[in-house]
Amino acid sequence: MAEQSKTKTKTKTKTMETVHSPLLTYFSMISLLTLCPPFVILLWYTMTHADGSILQAFSYLKHHGLQGFISIWPKPSATACKIIAVYAAFEAALQLLLPGKSVQGPISPAGNRPLYKANGVAAYLVTLLTYLALWWFGIFNPTIVYDHLGEIYSALIFGSFVFCIFLYIKGHLAPSSTDSGSSGNIIIDFYWGMELYPRIGKHFDIKVFTNCRFGMMSWAVLALTYCIKQYEENGKVADSMLVNTTLMLVYVTKFFWWEAGYWNTMDIAHDRAGFYICWGCLVWVPSVYTSPGMYLVNHPVTLGTQLALFILVAGILCIYINYDCDRQRQEFRRTNGKCLVWGRAPSKIEATYTTSSGETKRSLLLTSGWWGLARHFHYVPEILSAFFWTVPALFHHFLPYFYVIFLTILLFDRAKRDDDRCRSKYGKYWKLYCDKVPYRIIPGVY
Ligand code: NDP
Repeated sequence: MAEQSKTKTKTKTKTMETVHSPLLTYFSMISLLTLCPPFVILLWYTMTHADGSILQAFSYLKHHGLQGFISIWPKPSATACKIIAVYAAFEAALQLLLPGKSVQGPISPAGNRPLYKANGVAAYLVTLLTYLALWWFGIFNPTIVYDHLGEIYSALIFGSFVFCIFLYIKGHLAPSSTDSGSSGNIIIDFYWGMELYPRIGKHFDIKVFTNCRFGMMSWAVLALTYCIKQYEENGKVADSMLVNTTLMLVYVTKFFWWEAGYWNTMDIAHDRAGFYICWGCLVWVPSVYTSPGMYLVNHPVTLGTQLALFILVAGILCIYINYDCDRQRQEFRRTNGKCLVWGRAPSKIEATYTTSSGETKRSLLLTSGWWGLARHFHYVPEILSAFFWTVPALFHHFLPYFYVIFLTILLFDRAKRDDDRCRSKYGKYWKLYCDKVPYRIIPGVY
């Protein structure tokens, strides 16, 4: 943390740029605030109480109106708050206490280089083993989590909002580094965040906690919960649920295996800690990302061995390709271009850019391998992986596919956002890359 503290500041710092135009920011802020919380509750209600059928949920709302909706919104019960508090405290303790190599993050826009402790795999293993052991030895039954899921989401919706207010106040009063600043607009500051990598003390990184140790970890914990719930209800687990759970666990395992790489991505290196990213990771990931599994609990579809194996292998292949895209880029940057890409010396562009403090820095853009197919090809296997862990639900209902559709929209928007950011960062060098690799996501199409 030494380099980080060197640049630490206690005063309010320079004005920052916003990611989208103020109009779009207001629009997404209002949509997120007003539509996402009720959506999370409706999604849970439809999956667990309306047979996964949008029509059934719609018919209920048509007959009972707003009052009916209010009556299905669970109160954040004491049990739900206890479950969240114990889980969050456990994850925070693992993040702080488990040993791990010290890893440098990427150079920030203000020229800082934060340090992180890479103990994600250990935290992941300890979490899953503890959860399974609690169940196995009869100390805590994961079905309790499923049975209080609505209350848990409700508590998360409100608790995360309060947490984002804390981030806003901290950003103003006690920023952790010079990568912080106000846009001059309270709503934008709250929504997009003020600090790039806020910390509590020197060592506790808040975004690592919200994005990785709470959000991504809850994905694996809930995937197991759904599987166990189906087992406890039916005395067996359907092959559809096994495929879904296995693929989700492979995906999250890949995530923690590569967690130090994640610290170089947009979420950590560019998006500030505000409502957009933190509320998303604390509420949207545990609810929406896990929703195909939530659906399968009460829909034990039987696929048959052949189909189940086909989906499983296709899903694992997509997760592997997605991983390999990320790995290729990071290996290329780590070795300063002195590595092999698909068995050959990589083709590259040597770019320069200026940091917000006026320093000129050098960077490399890979133009071969996966990164030569399209500028964001890695989103294709990401979307396909999500499709493969959803398709065990077959096509009786639309709602399990909501995550795939949401992810597609998110990643197409993200690709545009990243292109815009890289164009303004690298200027003519980015144009050179676009000339060489003209497609944004799908080679030959888009
Ligand atoms: P990345 O951060 O991994 O990649 C984009 C960044 O990489 C750019 O900002 C740029 O940063 C650098 N870069 C761009 N082109 C090149 C190149 N040709 N050579 C070298 N560096 C380049 O993207 P994401 O954060 O979007 O994705 C990371 C992973 O997370 C992916 O696997 C993605 O699928 C997954 N993801 C999953 C989501 C989900 O909700 N399930 C959401 C978003 C991502 P720089 O400034 O350093 O040059």
